[in-house]
Amino acid sequence: MTAEDEATRKMQFLFALRSRGVTDARVLGAMERIDRAQFVKGLFAARAYEDMPLPIAAGQTISQPSIVGLMTQALRLEPRDKVLEIGTGSGYQAAILSQLVRRVYTIDRFRRLTAEARAIFEALGLTNITAIAADGCFGLPEQAPFDRILVTAAAEDPPGPLLAQLRIGGIMVLPVGQSDAVQSLIRVTRTETGYDYDELRPVRFVPLVEGLGD
Ligand code: SAH
Repeated sequence: MTAEDEATRKMQFLFALRSRGVTDARVLGAMERIDRAQFVKGLFAARAYEDMPLPIAAGQTISQPSIVGLMTQALRLEPRDKVLEIGTGSGYQAAILSQLVRRVYTIDRFRRLTAEARAIFEALGLTNITAIAADGCFGLPEQAPFDRILVTAAAEDPPGPLLAQLRIGGIMVLPVGQSDAVQSLIRVTRTETGYDYDELRPVRFVPLVEGLGD
């Protein structure tokens, strides 16, 4: 592919994101810098710039880029934030977050996925991400509280330990609902006295599953 083809492809990718509501200039900038093709292997790499989810290892998926953009935007990130992501998957979402905040912790229940993601982060020089193999339903108590939490797998309800690990004023974005139905993307804001809930849009994610994978 020529440099010109690549520039056109990148412009189309960014145009598609904008037309689907990703309008935050910082988020678009991060998505321009992080090449999604690095996170998609084999045959599917050729489709990395299409706005669709794609299969990755362990029967999981890399999310649709416009959804990655909308979720990132919904977090209202600040440069000093410490962020926890549940569901490392390919590592793409964590890489986008790493461009916008001080520190990212990302957890997946499949050791293979965190190992592969870690190798990509290293190759790209993304030194502010820590990828951990664990059951993310329990969060990461040793690093809590978090300014922001992003869950990229659907639970029926927001997991209690994650709500507890959000600092006051902090924001969590996650899909909730039954795994085989349409789910709702929600934003939870922790206040002095409790939690405020906003419903953002219908989405479809793989389920949040308890326990470590094989
Ligand atoms: N954010 C990813 C896409 C995530 S797909 C990306 O950018 O590519 C959802 C991921 O959540 C899967 O990799 C799955 O293994 C993981 N997952 C599901 N339940 C989990 C749990 N309890 N703890 C940690 N990860 C979990």
